[in-house]
Amino acid sequence: MQNVTTISEVRQILREVRQSGKTIGCVPTMGALHEGHLSLIEAAVEQSDFVVVTIFVNPTQFAPHEDLSKYPRPLEWDLKLCEEAGASLVFNPSAEEMYGKDSQISVTVGSLADCWEGASRPGHFDGVATVVTKLFNVVQPDLAFFGAKDYQQQSIIRAMCRDLDIPVKIVTCPTIREESGLALSSRNVYLSDQEREIAVHISQSLLRAKERYPDVEWSLKQLRKTLRQELNETGGLELDYATIVDPTTLEEVSEKQDTMVAIIAARVGTTRLIDNMELSLRS
Ligand code: AMP
Repeated sequence: MQNVTTISEVRQILREVRQSGKTIGCVPTMGALHEGHLSLIEAAVEQSDFVVVTIFVNPTQFAPHEDLSKYPRPLEWDLKLCEEAGASLVFNPSAEEMYGKDSQISVTVGSLADCWEGASRPGHFDGVATVVTKLFNVVQPDLAFFGAKDYQQQSIIRAMCRDLDIPVKIVTCPTIREESGLALSSRNVYLSDQEREIAVHISQSLLRAKERYPDVEWSLKQLRKTLRQELNETGGLELDYATIVDPTTLEEVSEKQDTMVAIIAARVGTTRLIDNMELSLRS
């Protein structure tokens, strides 16, 4: 596995890879890798010939008050995990390599970024869309792998490739969880043992919504109300939003659809956690 920090090195290596007819899979990450990230790398290894993992804590997707400076950066450990998972190349640029000081142009997401995570984190998805566009321009992958854990993010990346004619196939991989049900996240390291126990209520309420969803006795309105109520009654958890939305538009439609997605964001202590689960009438 090669590990490079400059755009020109990536381009040089990938030129030869492409010439040899291999397909390229890309897994964009911010590092502090866990089993969730590794599942994306493994899917990429299965579905493409040459896997590029990018590790970049992107400053433009953090608001000034967010955790950019304290975001975990265990690079040596991450490199070891990438190699074990079968990655061929890691691209780990500095912020200066990615953003020249004269940088002028960025990607702006439309109304898909106004709701939910976007409403709580203004500018966040413009930062994500811009850095993913740049990474796609550097790597020019055939496929790129994202986690369902960041549901709105993968929706926006899909819409971005559609609207900007970016020829990358987006593959969304299922959320990997601890045995307790807690969705794996690099931010879980901030949680104390007690906070972890509180955080588990998030996935438990999603699971209950999933079980209730096909039941005609449960209206969408009642499901949303109960989801919120259960989390509001959880001590130590401060709910940001909890709702059930259309999986593509992320809008709160009024009638149950074959497939919908329940999405939650909540703060436990100082840590903001997000999770979601697909709900289906057929389960
Ligand atoms: P991050 O490093 O947090 O930017 O995440 C990089 C990629 O890993 C994103 O596509 C995330 O959705 C994905 N990811 C994060 N946590 C999980 C998880 N628990 N299961 C599956 N994918 C995940």
